Amino acid sequence: MGQLAFFVNSDICIGCKCCEAACKDIKDLPLGPRPRFVRDFVGGEWKVDVTDPTLYRQEGVFIYHVSVSCNHCANPACVAICPVGSMTKDPETGIVSNDLEACIGCGSCYDTCPYKAPQILESDMKAYKCDFCKDLLEADEKPACVATCPMRALDYGEHSDLMAANGDACDVAPLPSSEETGPSLVLKLHREAKMDKSDGYSTSLYVSDR
Ligand code: SF4
Ligand code: SF4
Ligand code: SF4
Repeated sequence: MGQLAFFVNSDICIGCKCCEAACKDIKDLPLGPRPRFVRDFVGGEWKVDVTDPTLYRQEGVFIYHVSVSCNHCANPACVAICPVGSMTKDPETGIVSNDLEACIGCGSCYDTCPYKAPQILESDMKAYKCDFCKDLLEADEKPACVATCPMRALDYGEHSDLMAANGDACDVAPLPSSEETGPSLVLKLHREAKMDKSDGYSTSLYVSDR
């Protein structure tokens, strides 16, 4: 098996956050860390109509959503920086996992990950992140987020297969540049997708208890 990856179809995602909830549920996580989180990107303006001040007209108003988790990167900055070696990348599947027994909750992984994917739970000072639901994969089941999405906007598979079927897009505002870590992520961009973060603002901030 080669590197596993997620496919995220931002063009049909409705931002319902069922994927976030399913992930927290399967991992039995309390308030705080979200191994999968949905970024909302919003932009445009409403302006007073010059011909009728009682009316407003919209200029370039848009919103779209991008569901993000750990991207099990080709060059995982989290693995490189972890001082106790608890963050590791599986040589066969490419899945990046954190050994919670060994994790000391220093937060170096959160600080260095451009996606802010590993998030610290203050009550036990451990970094929680997506492990690709490898227990479910071993039981021949889909990852919980993929199985739950009501729009079927999420999928998974070998990175090379997903790219062959869908192209190789993995950059879009408000995500960080893919150049740093080489995310195992394939995006179908929303029809109003922007590449520049200054074209809008994100309404969904990362949650960290640090
Ligand atoms: S569950 Fe599907 S539609 Fe809902 S936010 Fe997640 S990816 Fe988007
Ligand atoms: S997305 Fe972040 S946490 Fe996941 S492998 Fe890449 S650098 Fe590590
Ligand atoms: S694969 Fe599992 S752990 Fe990863 S984001 Fe989806 S539900 Fe969460």
